[in-house]
Amino acid sequence: MMSSMPKGLTASTGMDALTHAIEGYITLGAWELSDMFHIKAIEIIARSLRGAVANTAEGREGMALGQYVAGMGFSNVGLGVDHSMAHTLSAYYDMPHGKACATLLPCVMEFNAPATGEKYREIARAMGVKGVDDMTQDEYRKAAINAVKQLAEDVGIVCSLKGVLKEEDIPALARDAYADACRPGNPRDISEAEIAELYRSLM
Ligand SMILES: [Zn+2]
Repeated sequence: MMSSMPKGLTASTGMDALTHAIEGYITLGAWELSDMFHIKAIEIIARSLRGAVANTAEGREGMALGQYVAGMGFSNVGLGVDHSMAHTLSAYYDMPHGKACATLLPCVMEFNAPATGEKYREIARAMGVKGVDDMTQDEYRKAAINAVKQLAEDVGIVCSLKGVLKEEDIPALARDAYADACRPGNPRDISEAEIAELYRSLM
């Protein structure tokens, strides 16, 4: 059924599933049970998405499972400001939801890093990064963010809003993203001005 999905749709829906797993793993309401789903989902998605975009049977099957496991997790605990900002971007610029989530994810992960304890070590490990136990906090946080960025690029999504985002829209985008239902679950408190800065950093 999924083998006829176009590459772009496979990539963006797949990165949406990864965003569900990562935001669900670090959201304020996360606990042992939801962590179990999210870490497994990150691992399955990280090893399957490139194959799904290349339309291999293993990749397609992996993504069918990975997105489901992520859904079992985040539907219990909520998400964070990546989804708030993505909902708003899609509404203003007609951007596919998963593409918006993926574009924002590395810079939102960087913003959230100080509020995540050791969780980025586990994200990096689940993304397939080697040697995470020997890394400093700074190193494993960077490694997790880079692994996410690399996966997005490998499936054809560039983490930039150049040519899309208009400076004059930023105040309204930031206001609407701040008001979004996912924002209160974000692990790090964020203001409307900080949301505006995150959008601006991608121009
Ligand atoms: Zn989503």
